[in-house]
Amino acid sequence: MAKPYDVLIVGGGVIGCSILYQLSKRGKKGLLIEKNQLASRASKAAAGMLGVHTELDGGSPFYRLAKNSRNMYPVLAQELKELTGTDIEYEENGMVKLARTEKEAKNLISAASTMDQDEGVEWLSSLKLSTFEPYLSKQATGGLFIPGDGNVSAPKLTEALGLASVRLGAEVMEYTDVYDFIVEGSRVSGVNTSLGPYYASEIVVAGGAWSQSLLERIGVTLHSFPVKGECFSVKCSRKLVERTIFTEGCYIVPKVGGRYLIGATEHAHTFDETISVSGMMSLMKKATDVLPDLIHAEWEKAWSGIRPQTQGGLPIIGRSERWEGLSISTGHYRNGILLAPITGVMMADLLEGKENRVLHSHVGSFSKWN
Ligand SMILES: Cc1cc2nc3c(=O)[nH]c(=O)nc-3n(C[C@H](O)[C@H](O)[C@H](O)COP(=O)(O)OP(=O)(O)OC[C@H]3O[C@@H](n4cnc5c(N)ncnc54)[C@H](O)[C@@H]3O)c2cc1C
Repeated sequence: MAKPYDVLIVGGGVIGCSILYQLSKRGKKGLLIEKNQLASRASKAAAGMLGVHTELDGGSPFYRLAKNSRNMYPVLAQELKELTGTDIEYEENGMVKLARTEKEAKNLISAASTMDQDEGVEWLSSLKLSTFEPYLSKQATGGLFIPGDGNVSAPKLTEALGLASVRLGAEVMEYTDVYDFIVEGSRVSGVNTSLGPYYASEIVVAGGAWSQSLLERIGVTLHSFPVKGECFSVKCSRKLVERTIFTEGCYIVPKVGGRYLIGATEHAHTFDETISVSGMMSLMKKATDVLPDLIHAEWEKAWSGIRPQTQGGLPIIGRSERWEGLSISTGHYRNGILLAPITGVMMADLLEGKENRVLHSHVGSFSKWN
């Protein structure tokens, strides 16, 4: 049977679009099929932090992978600008992880000792912190300044990756639901969609939190689950913080145009995207405790998204052990924007059968599935 596409990707979030982009750069003919619009689910909701140091342990394979991925952003931002004209709002504005108690300060200082020296991580005493970020509450006992961690606009990044791929020869179909796989013996050779069947030499499922339900059609269990997150944004004509402020249960991300994005709640095992009053109240309390002047900012909007999490806590990136022609890339949980560039490269290498020594040492630490 004719296979007009080299690779067919299910899911137009940041992961599917990044894989499509890397494959398109290598001259592969890709088709991406998205149920809604590109960047309509988790990748629209994300705060866009490129936080290598927010929740990963220094020195771990996952930390290395995240750092490699974050370091790809300056070049990626430039490439996307040239190919699409889109500014993905990449900023290397740094991050401050706040300590509100002596115990938190001790933990942060100890975590800093495991981080790479070349990151230039610096402990800020409460005095230094108050000159760094003068509007932060004076209650903070100090903060860990991480200069290299930046942020982007997650929806703009996702859309630009999709558009750049199209400019390089890929096809993108929106508002098309993939509801089953076409199987020939032990091989997955295509998908059935609301617009009919599509075939390709390789199929990649990058359906975010919805990957599991689709893969169940062919008996693949991912051991993954959804985690809802709520956020809100405000505007302020005055610069309240220069860097992203990260603290237990809350972060404040300065965006272009005087916007501040505040997130995010965590509710596991639900696909319900409604925004709760309790979620908003708890975020507002935490954020104004840290940055009291936020109370005078102008309300913009609130939203939510469903993060794809795995039971092992690591993303699933690789070929199915059970089905030939099937690969999976999901479970990026709170770090999908950070990890998108390297995930695209890893999947493109894998599909081309390339040995990538640097990345394979990381892949080995990822979860296995059937
Ligand atoms: C509130 C919030 C804040 C976050 N902040 C950050 C952050 O600051 N930094 C960071 O790195 N990460 C952050 N994340 C995590 C990040 O958003 C996710 O890890 C990432 O977006 C996952 O991308 P994805 O492509 O796997 O999933 P998604 O963006 O959910 O995309 C999956 C796509 O697949 C499509 N799809 C599913 N099933 C089918 C089907 N059967 N047929 C066709 N299409 C299908 C869906 O419609 C969807 O568009 C945040 C997440 C949330 C919710």
